Amino acid sequence: MNSEDTKISKDNMRYKFCPHCGGKLSLEETLSLSRLQCEDCKKIFYQNPAVGVAAIIIRDKKILLGRRNSSYRDMWCIPCGYVEYYEDAREALIREIKEETNLDIKLSIVFDIHSNFHNSAQHTVGIWFLVDEFRGNMTPGDDIEALDFFSTAEIKAQNIVFAFPTDVRVLDDLVNRGLIL
Ligand SMILES: [Zn+2]
Repeated sequence: MNSEDTKISKDNMRYKFCPHCGGKLSLEETLSLSRLQCEDCKKIFYQNPAVGVAAIIIRDKKILLGRRNSSYRDMWCIPCGYVEYYEDAREALIREIKEETNLDIKLSIVFDIHSNFHNSAQHTVGIWFLVDEFRGNMTPGDDIEALDFFSTAEIKAQNIVFAFPTDVRVLDDLVNRGLIL
């Protein structure tokens, strides 16, 4: 996606007032940037994407997916979550996977990074990590209500619908690299 399509504009301003002084925010546009500035105290109101982290857990060349029960209900995703403001990205992922799957994981390298623009109210940057080892009694929790390992043929046969378009790109890359079937 072109970043022109996702810039802040008069039509998609999520915030109207300055968090510092309550003054009115106005749109300031330069050639390369589009951002909000307070008309009173002149502070720039920076808006940055949130960071999401996801764990690629593979067994017998099948990938672990979770069915969601809150946002994107009944859609599936690679188990993931947000990094809290004060939190290390890897620790956030280990915490999220414990909450959503009850598995204890050992992270390997970063497999992929994508910008996610599918939700205009919350842009994110997603980081997908490969998982070296996992153990424990797998049980769905938090906003995941079912968990299973899938090959891409099973994903197709069972009409699995993905919550996030970038998960589909990551799956394609995993197939191309021979990591999943
Ligand atoms: Zn202000």
